[in-house]
Amino acid sequence: MRTKFIAGNWKMNTNLAETAALTQALIDKTRGVQKTTIMVAPPFTNLQTAFDLLKNSKIKLGGQNLYWEDKGAYTGEISGAMLRDLGCTYIIIGHSERRQYFKESSHEVNRKASAAMRHHLLPIVCVGETLEQRQKGEALAIVEHQVRTGLEGFSADQVSQFTMAYEPVWAIGTGQAATPRDAVEVHTLIREVLGEMFGNDAAQSVRIQYGGSVTADNIESFIREIEIDGALVGGASLKADAFVRIIEAAEAV
Ligand code: PEP
Repeated sequence: MRTKFIAGNWKMNTNLAETAALTQALIDKTRGVQKTTIMVAPPFTNLQTAFDLLKNSKIKLGGQNLYWEDKGAYTGEISGAMLRDLGCTYIIIGHSERRQYFKESSHEVNRKASAAMRHHLLPIVCVGETLEQRQKGEALAIVEHQVRTGLEGFSADQVSQFTMAYEPVWAIGTGQAATPRDAVEVHTLIREVLGEMFGNDAAQSVRIQYGGSVTADNIESFIREIEIDGALVGGASLKADAFVRIIEAAEAV
């Protein structure tokens, strides 16, 4: 059975003091959480600060991006080995802000996921359509293409360790979340595609998160859906109380 997974993507927010305060508040307020996997992804520069606090807690640390090479002359990039060294367990790959602003392709997502596997980081692979694509009726085709290209060449064993995050681009940071019904339609498609590519057992073990304007007030409508295994949360993960309420809603299912 898949357990729920709530992940916080802090993006390019928080300084060291804010990272420490938010991390400590989350540790203190989630001590009672038993079943739900929790992860936070602070900026690279704050990973050490977060890890020093998190190492004796249940909350996992994640990176927001990585480069596919292991080391070398790639100015400004961070490798999987470096993230692992810093205590990361998870890695967000192909976030729509990376795809949109940094022109990351699904082919690059694939290379990054390979690097993650080499360094024993668990990928959270993000997929999702733009508003224009949804309005043209292309949402399912776009997501299917992102899944097929992003995951091509992996084994069923590898993929069963992946998390997928369905994040419609138009819902991220806009306050306009998808409806649970739309999310379920896309999650169902993702699991079908995974089943075709890797078999039913692998497909059933992949957790699929919804992301896009998840808040403490709307999480319940998503998390009670059997096809929604958790949430990737941006804005609301920066406030301890809101993020804890989201985690508690997942824990209560
Ligand atoms: C995200 O960054 O992955 C995200 C879903 O952001 P927000 O929750 O702010 O929409």
